[in-house]
Amino acid sequence: MDAEPVAAREVRLGPWRLRALRDARFALDGGAMFGVVPRVFWERQTPVHEDHTIPLATTPWLLQGEGVTVVVEPGLGRRWGEKERRIYHISHGGGHDLQESLAAAGVDLAEVDHCILSHLHWDHAGGAVGEDGRPLFPRARYWCPEVEVQACLARDHLRRASYRVEDLQPLLDAGCLEAVPGAAEIAPGLRLVPVGGHSDGVSLVLLETAEGTACFWSDVVPTRLHVPLPWIMAYDLCAAESWRVREEWIPRAAREGWLCLLYHDPEEPLGRFREEGGRFRWEGIFCKS
Ligand SMILES: [Zn+2]
Repeated sequence: MDAEPVAAREVRLGPWRLRALRDARFALDGGAMFGVVPRVFWERQTPVHEDHTIPLATTPWLLQGEGVTVVVEPGLGRRWGEKERRIYHISHGGGHDLQESLAAAGVDLAEVDHCILSHLHWDHAGGAVGEDGRPLFPRARYWCPEVEVQACLARDHLRRASYRVEDLQPLLDAGCLEAVPGAAEIAPGLRLVPVGGHSDGVSLVLLETAEGTACFWSDVVPTRLHVPLPWIMAYDLCAAESWRVREEWIPRAAREGWLCLLYHDPEEPLGRFREEGGRFRWEGIFCKS
């Protein structure tokens, strides 16, 4: 009998091996996750908890190329108090732990050359710093958009709930942060491309090879339900800018058949975008278990 197909968490692209790691399970308010989309549409497609939150994951990606090891988005990490763990349903059970996940992939923390932070919201950057208050990857250069550093340090009323200075300060103190003013090439073919909309500098991470392109979508497309263009989170700083960014990048990814790497989807981290009659949808990649 054939085994049930399961969502793929690993793929090869040219000389690169791309793997979905596990950091945590958590939950955010369903209404905030889907912005102007009425609940009657989204509640058919996701479980909803009693407190109206929906289940989400944080999925760091391990990219290994010729002689280079990269972690994209280190997760929300373990430095959380009882109250936040309760509000956001943060759970590291069932193997959801970045360090365990890296160990299972055979990668030592000191082997990581680059850690890419698409932006500095706490659910993306919390894992950059270990429980000892030091950068988690002792040898790595950390990359993020300069405008995100400013947003994190500014702590104005619009942004303060989304950032924690303690996720950033240890990187600044250790001198391991590359705060880039615009798009930056981190390794051959691997680029950080700030686009904005969701936050001041939220970025895509593009891996372009002769065999095709992979894209890490961060909060531009946080889950497989956010592929349709109007499904924009209410968390986004500027929905009009998010729309412009998504209208530029999602059709391109669909047209060119990019491998799409998702961060928050609790079920399917890896897939492609498909266009049908001007609408965009998700097509997950599955493998035999
Ligand atoms: Zn975010």
